[in-house]
Amino acid sequence: MSSSAAAPAPAQRRRPLRGVVFDMDGTLTVPVIDFQAMYCEVLGGDAAYAAARAAGGGTVDILHFVESWEPDLQRRAYEVIARFEREGLDRLQIMPGASELCGFLDGKQIRRGLITRNVKEAVDLFHQRFGMTFVPALSREFRPYKPDPAPLLHICSTWNIPPHEVIMVGDSLKDDVVCGKRAGAFTCLLDETGRYDPHESLPEDVKPDFKVSSLTEVFRVLESHFDLIPAPAESTV
Ligand SMILES: [Mg+2]
Repeated sequence: MSSSAAAPAPAQRRRPLRGVVFDMDGTLTVPVIDFQAMYCEVLGGDAAYAAARAAGGGTVDILHFVESWEPDLQRRAYEVIARFEREGLDRLQIMPGASELCGFLDGKQIRRGLITRNVKEAVDLFHQRFGMTFVPALSREFRPYKPDPAPLLHICSTWNIPPHEVIMVGDSLKDDVVCGKRAGAFTCLLDETGRYDPHESLPEDVKPDFKVSSLTEVFRVLESHFDLIPAPAESTV
């Protein structure tokens, strides 16, 4: 099977597309945060992490988890998360293909936005290192965060573009794909290692419209499945 699988039927029908919204960590940047180690430390050890995973059906939404804690515990947890994120920033690397993809979108006058559960400081540093700015770029300070569709709907409304003319690209099924689907946007999962194969076996509520193993493949998805409609010149940011 090709790694970019098309779900919308009929397969060859091209849809209008005016905007692309990206996740940051693990999508535009190479994953450098050891999430498992971070979760273990926040939750208080391997056993607590395993229990939280089991309770969450195999995944842990750490931010959501911590929100219900007492203020002191919560503060300590946020300090641990911030330390892991800071260490990640020191080793920040741009994902191969990201600059080329963004250059391609700019050439077509397709809007680029960003949604991350990381903090604004990380987005600022990313913009600085990447040399291109995403507008809007919503970080953890924007509530509610992914997988709630609110940040994506906010970007669509800022752009004045309906969600069904936007695609969300990210490496997380539970955050990026679910956010995109709930907002009514197209979704593209970046699955570098094939951990979500086969595509067809994914449950409908988290099944992305497209799945790619690198950002380079996103070009093909955009060109073969969509009519790329440029933003009006006067509203180009
Ligand atoms: Mg990610």
